[in-house]
Amino acid sequence: MQQQTTYKPLTLITPTAAMSPSVHGGRAKCLQRLVRMEMPVPVTVALSFDAVHDAAIGNLPDLADLLAPFGDAPLLSVRPSSQDPDWGGPSAILNVGMNDARYVELINWLGEETATKLYLRFIQSYAIHVARLDPDEFHMPDVTDAESLKAMMATFEYETDEPFPQDVDSQLAEVLRSMARAWDGTTARLLRQAKGAPADAGLGLVVQAMATGTGRGECGQGVIQFVDGTSGAPRIIGRYVSSHLAGTRALGPETEGALYLTRDPRGPSLEDLCPDQYAKLVSYGDLCRARLREEMEVKFTLQDGALRIIDAVRVQRSSRAAVRIAVALAEDRVIPREEAVMRVEPAALSELLHRQIDPTAPRDILVQGIAASPGAASGRIVLTASDAQASASRGEPCVLVRRETTPEDIRGMHAASAVLTMRGGVTSHAAVIGRGLGLPCVVGASDLSIDRKTGKIVAADGRVLHAGEMITVDGTTGQVLLGEPKTVEAALDGAFQTLLEWADEFRDIGVRANADTPADAQTAANFAAEGIGLCRTEHMFFEGDRLGVMREMIFAEDGDDRREVLDRLLPMQRADFQALFEIMAGKTVCVRLFDPPLHEFLPSDKAGLRDLAEQVALPLPEVTARVDALAEYNPMLGMRGVRLGIAIPEIYDMQARAIFEAIVAVGKKGIAISAEIMIPLVSAMREVELVKSRIEVIANVVRTKNKADFDYRLGVMVETPRACLRAQDIAEHADFLSFGTNDLTQMTYGLSRDDAGRFMSSYVQQGVYVEDPFHTLDIEGVGELIALGAARGRRSHPDITLSICGEHGGSRSAIDFCRKRGFDYVSCSPFRVPVSRLTAAQLAIADRLSQ
Ligand code: PEP
Ligand code: MG
Repeated sequence: MQQQTTYKPLTLITPTAAMSPSVHGGRAKCLQRLVRMEMPVPVTVALSFDAVHDAAIGNLPDLADLLAPFGDAPLLSVRPSSQDPDWGGPSAILNVGMNDARYVELINWLGEETATKLYLRFIQSYAIHVARLDPDEFHMPDVTDAESLKAMMATFEYETDEPFPQDVDSQLAEVLRSMARAWDGTTARLLRQAKGAPADAGLGLVVQAMATGTGRGECGQGVIQFVDGTSGAPRIIGRYVSSHLAGTRALGPETEGALYLTRDPRGPSLEDLCPDQYAKLVSYGDLCRARLREEMEVKFTLQDGALRIIDAVRVQRSSRAAVRIAVALAEDRVIPREEAVMRVEPAALSELLHRQIDPTAPRDILVQGIAASPGAASGRIVLTASDAQASASRGEPCVLVRRETTPEDIRGMHAASAVLTMRGGVTSHAAVIGRGLGLPCVVGASDLSIDRKTGKIVAADGRVLHAGEMITVDGTTGQVLLGEPKTVEAALDGAFQTLLEWADEFRDIGVRANADTPADAQTAANFAAEGIGLCRTEHMFFEGDRLGVMREMIFAEDGDDRREVLDRLLPMQRADFQALFEIMAGKTVCVRLFDPPLHEFLPSDKAGLRDLAEQVALPLPEVTARVDALAEYNPMLGMRGVRLGIAIPEIYDMQARAIFEAIVAVGKKGIAISAEIMIPLVSAMREVELVKSRIEVIANVVRTKNKADFDYRLGVMVETPRACLRAQDIAEHADFLSFGTNDLTQMTYGLSRDDAGRFMSSYVQQGVYVEDPFHTLDIEGVGELIALGAARGRRSHPDITLSICGEHGGSRSAIDFCRKRGFDYVSCSPFRVPVSRLTAAQLAIADRLSQ
């Protein structure tokens, strides 16, 4: 039988004391590890979660026991020790035990000014964090002398009607009580829960002998870390503040008495001042890395020349640094590769995925704003959303410049390459939408002024810009640059690539991308997507002069006429597919046949109808009548997807021919492609039969005409509940089933994906839905239909390829769901591909570890 460890409320930290992060917190456990490594840690006592919980409800631990290891008249620090250091905790209180008698002693050692500062700081933090007095009443005075100390004492007495406590017992009791209670406060609870802490997360405390200040030799305190928290590169960073030098001369980087750590031509350094202690610190850094298997920031003091290690915490790090550190630790065999893969939060990768300005390119900075959505993009200035759309339809990249954006600007934002606003912060409309769209965005560039009447933008240095001029938005740094500096693809640096390659070794489900354009496909290829899981072809008909041809096709009198117009679209479609196939050479591209209702291609306003009448050379009333006739009450449930393919088969014929001719064309260049054709919105097996037989005919025609052979696979997009229910028949005619969770969610809930936003937040707030099902896959409902469809599909076609390609495809819950059901791949937006690769690997590793 396993022996149960019993933990005491108070534990003196020794190498063998019974301690656990889930009982005493991460800091306490870390201090014990430092002690085990024989680092000179001052005497420390850990309070367990239970002891702190009891303190919060008024039952303090035995103070005599707690104080016993610290000797007479101690000076103590009290620090929080939550289970995961990221969950935070109340502010540390230093110098508990400071009182009038101690003050007199310290004056002798350190001089009046330093001793007074120390006492003032203690009163200040006690007043604010323990007695909870108004911080405005307890500013540090400009002059620190006996008078200012008296004044602060008097303020304390006035505010509390009590003298400042002088004995260490009562100071410590109040400190423990207040820290314990702070942990139970609503804000603290919400903050830590946001970081993943459970509702009942406990807090431990560590009480430690202060180790600074009293000695005639070198005294002071510092921090040191051995990597750069921004880049993750190895580098010694930190500083040391000498008590003796403080107040005598300004030496170092920021604070009086601050020294550089390493030898530095700009000023004195700890390495010069105390070379032995510096060398020891560096060796402790190596020891921490090897034994704690982490990059640590080490807090230390020198007390009369002797080194003390008072704490060590994980180095705070950017996403980029997190990747580099994890990879470096694994490359140095400090941790195994799979642990490196588990250590990086997949969402953190998103930041690293955007195009950036080439670091070597010259920058002509117009203004510095707030970096709201990462990445860089250039374009011509447009001042309105409609100008952005017009620019996009001409194929010209533009930057939408607005004082601030509103929901009406959304279409313009979609059309723009980047967004710049003069107002707003990181949670403004422009910032939120920009991040959602993966669109570089700078907000709050208040040094620019914009005159909408004249269309002039004036920079702080007097430069005047007009609509149409080329600028570049760098959403990573917040800078806006004149012109179009060279950019580099997303930051696929070595560590990033290595981590994802390792992830791929553990991953057991495929990741493809939803990509419609060559640009999307290129991004997907750069992120090592295993292919395209969904190419929505309809956007191809909105571009440039194609819209006109499309409209002519809609107005065609009969099949022959329609074919004639479609023949003009054919080369354009073929070129589209050819471009995608070339980029995805050697991989699979799944092309979804035309899906939207036709009326989406027709104008709705008078001016548009007039233009259309002119274009198709028909009288306006006839055009209006034809447009009205195409209108539907429920277009998303109407003539779209395969229904259109059956009612107007010439469209799918043309698309199939374009796909096959593109396969032949790239084949001639030696490019092999595995092409898939997917039929949307299927609800009956016969739909598949009909489309399939026509496509087979076309494939044969193209083969014969070009004297070429090629393969393709034909599959079904399962996005209606009936298709799930009838998957067994449908699968007999399909090589693959790809679940379109957007429409499937819409139809399972009977909830319009275009209108649900109006009441979704109230539904989620009232707990009707746990989450917005268009965001988070509804495993219970939609998931059940998918599982049922997959199982039925497999009944008639056991090795049928299964996947998900809706917006949910890249989410953790959808990947988890698909893995558990043995799906072949998920398909998600190109920028989501690395995140999905890492997530899939983490799920596979976690599964293995739990077995
Ligand atoms: C879907 O319905 O899930 C899907 C991917 O197709 P679309 O969003 O184009 O309707
Ligand atoms: Mg759909």
